[in-house]
Amino acid sequence: MSSSRDTRILVLNSGSSSVKYQLLDMSDSSRLAVGLVERIGEETSRLKHTHVESDTTREWSGPIRDHEAALKAVAEELAKDGLGLDSPELAAIGHRVVHGGQTFTAPTVVDDAVLAEIERLIPVAPLHNPANLTGIRTAQTLRPDLPQVAVFDTAFHTTMPESAARYAIDTATADAHRVRRYGFHGTSHAYVSRATAKLLGKAPEDVNVIVLHLGNGASASAVRGGRCVDTSMGLTPLEGLVMGTRSGDLDPAVIFHLARVGGMSIDEIDTLLNKKSGLIGLCGDNDMREIRRRVDEGDEEAQLAFDIYIHRLKKYIGAYYAVLGRVDAVAFTAGVGENASPVREAAVAGLEELGLAVDSELNAVRSDRPRLISPEYARVAVAVIPTDEELEIATQTYALVGRNTHQ
Ligand code: ADP
Repeated sequence: MSSSRDTRILVLNSGSSSVKYQLLDMSDSSRLAVGLVERIGEETSRLKHTHVESDTTREWSGPIRDHEAALKAVAEELAKDGLGLDSPELAAIGHRVVHGGQTFTAPTVVDDAVLAEIERLIPVAPLHNPANLTGIRTAQTLRPDLPQVAVFDTAFHTTMPESAARYAIDTATADAHRVRRYGFHGTSHAYVSRATAKLLGKAPEDVNVIVLHLGNGASASAVRGGRCVDTSMGLTPLEGLVMGTRSGDLDPAVIFHLARVGGMSIDEIDTLLNKKSGLIGLCGDNDMREIRRRVDEGDEEAQLAFDIYIHRLKKYIGAYYAVLGRVDAVAFTAGVGENASPVREAAVAGLEELGLAVDSELNAVRSDRPRLISPEYARVAVAVIPTDEELEIATQTYALVGRNTHQ
């Protein structure tokens, strides 16, 4: 047993009404348990827990009052599998924190000052940081002696130059309200850009990659030699690509127009752009599987939604090609990027002059492994890289605390 001492990391992703978790053993990066608590605060909360080694899943439904009750329930499930939070093998708990502002450029061991700073950032991440904070505080009460590490969604993007990070608005106003482009999905962009370099058999420092994280939320990033130089999400996750329910880029005057002419309130416009736009706003569906099914049946509304989605994606590929100057690879990841071959094919179609092409046969292969889908002659590699944000959070957490526990 001593060989695996202090090598376990619990990863917690605390949302406003859910907690996702994974327990990993970093001696071989394997998963020991994975699970999810949903609908926290409702009568019909649900817990689903899987013990990986025995391949057993337990599901449970009933009222879970708050995050503290949720984490206690998780701790009980882990203990049933002999993986309790009191185990000396647990080295740390890694927390996904959405917004680290300009302060947090790397994973950080949590102390009171760190908690205060995450709290100070709530105005720029009102939906996410409060839940992330609750998760950390609750975990602290369960294991006060254990390092809690915050891993920020924004951290990977803090290397963006000011020319990419600043909006062209009055500087004093921007600074007073911390208005700038922060970017999100950073853990995924970091993981995928590194995994792409590995797939090419190169060091991350030697590779320029355009990463396309296409899930329900979607973002693109331009990564030069392992460092992010631009990304499509901005002050909030609303900017950039067309997403499942978010509009992505639009003329900001659309908002004034909807308020002045359409009589809508700021909150109504916020909901419209974040929850009722993007694919769902365009065609009533935000699941790419359903949209493709409708396209295949000749549905024009679904076709137009798909075309708008692809047009925006292609514009970002072109823009980041120009930002990087030289591109070694374009990497597709997340639910749509990993699974929707028509999206990959359409996004790259017509870009042969840029050295980009997709091999239809390779593109059609279904696999959960990193793989190339470009033909051998293509100058730029096109890759599909399954993202693994939990492993990345665990890796970063372990790198930070592993040193101390292995002296
Ligand atoms: P989230 O942003 O919620 O983490 P995911 O990365 O899990 O999202 O992506 C979810 C989306 O992936 C779904 O809404 C759906 O559009 C898309 N998706 C999942 N599986 C497939 C598939 N087999 N084919 C096409 N699209 C898929």
